[in-house]
Amino acid sequence: MPLIAVTCRHSHQQGVSHIQDAYVQAVEKAGGLPVILPPSLSPAASVDILSRMDGLFLSGGSDLSPSFFGKPPHPRLGEVEALRDEQEIALVKAALGLGLPIFGICRGMQVINAALGGTILQHIDEDRVGAIQHRQEAPGWHRHHQVEIVPGTMLAAALGPGAIGVNSFHHQVVDQVAPGLTISAASPDGLVEAFESREPWILGVQWHPERMIARYPEFLGLFELFCSQCNNKSMQQ
Ligand code: MN
Repeated sequence: MPLIAVTCRHSHQQGVSHIQDAYVQAVEKAGGLPVILPPSLSPAASVDILSRMDGLFLSGGSDLSPSFFGKPPHPRLGEVEALRDEQEIALVKAALGLGLPIFGICRGMQVINAALGGTILQHIDEDRVGAIQHRQEAPGWHRHHQVEIVPGTMLAAALGPGAIGVNSFHHQVVDQVAPGLTISAASPDGLVEAFESREPWILGVQWHPERMIARYPEFLGLFELFCSQCNNKSMQQ
């Protein structure tokens, strides 16, 4: 089974790293062996571990420091996990060099975009007139808004083309998509909800499929797609 490097949250106030069970369980259920990399590791040690892995999975979390996409901090910028930022940007760049598949969810998608030279809208409600609500207060499995999946994409192969309901727990979103990435889903207000690349292999989604799997098993398909890519990588070695 492929070894998957999995990033996690970090509380600098408490000096504690932590991750939600749903990510770990989704990777395992999809046929991967998750290896959690706490942000308390140095970026160098994190990259060393990554070099022995078969894929990189970036979980959700708080806001990426806008210094990583060349913007000053917006007044509504939330908590920044600085150690995690440094670790994850280094991991994405290293994964590209190693030819490892990369899958990012929510913040993870935004980190991929910034590492590849794209930008992030720091507060949707103020930065995008006409935006719908993207921070639901409904349960995590609830289909809060629809996204339109672009035909012919890997995402469409996994979930089917057309509209699908997803959850939404973000106040930031990808703005300028980094070179080499293709938009594969958008919300009704035109925000980027997913992107991808086949070579290098990258998948990013702005919603949280891991919180929907119990009720909508099709969302496990995204983890299975990723883990099968990592398994192919593992077989080549
Ligand atoms: Mn959304």
